[in-house]
Amino acid sequence: MTSVKNFIRTIPDFPHKGIMFRDVTTLFADPRGFRMAVDQLLQPYAGAQIDVVVGLEARGFILGGAVAHQLSAGFVPIRKKGKLPAATLSEDYTLEYGQATVEVHDDAINAGQTVLIVDDLLATGGTAEAGIKLVERLGGDIVGCAFVVDLPDLGGRARLDALGMNIHALCT
Ligand code: 5GP
Repeated sequence: MTSVKNFIRTIPDFPHKGIMFRDVTTLFADPRGFRMAVDQLLQPYAGAQIDVVVGLEARGFILGGAVAHQLSAGFVPIRKKGKLPAATLSEDYTLEYGQATVEVHDDAINAGQTVLIVDDLLATGGTAEAGIKLVERLGGDIVGCAFVVDLPDLGGRARLDALGMNIHALCT
């Protein structure tokens, strides 16, 4: 059976020597692959009430926008520092290749709204954890975190499990 894995290519030594980068642009570029990824990402949430899909920059925007459309939910971007025009909340975090800060508009989610967080890949979980903290600071109720790829050896799944998150990943 064809799996999303078949559409993802691995680029050695990107962005640094020794890193095996899982490139999902080939998944997104393929009509069957992209539909499969979006359909499978939203499948566990199809009957659930999701008010807002939160996408993590940048590939989480591509997937999250399509998932939000299918679930008839709103879409909220979590962006890298300095990109959002209105007042923001921010979270600093450590990622696989360094330090970063992510931000969300401080009025993007209302307390009590149900939220699905979407990104392409879970590695150390630093990016997702920063996103989770921002959503929780706004009072959002996180129903799940959905990823195309989970790299469990890098610890992200354990880290999000420890936060009590419900994780959905299409492949490891
Ligand atoms: P983490 O914060 O979990 O260590 O890293 C995950 C974040 O970095 C995600 O936003 C993801 O897009 C990006 N990332 C890290 N490694 C890879 C990779 O091998 N492939 C892709 N497509 N994204 C990666």
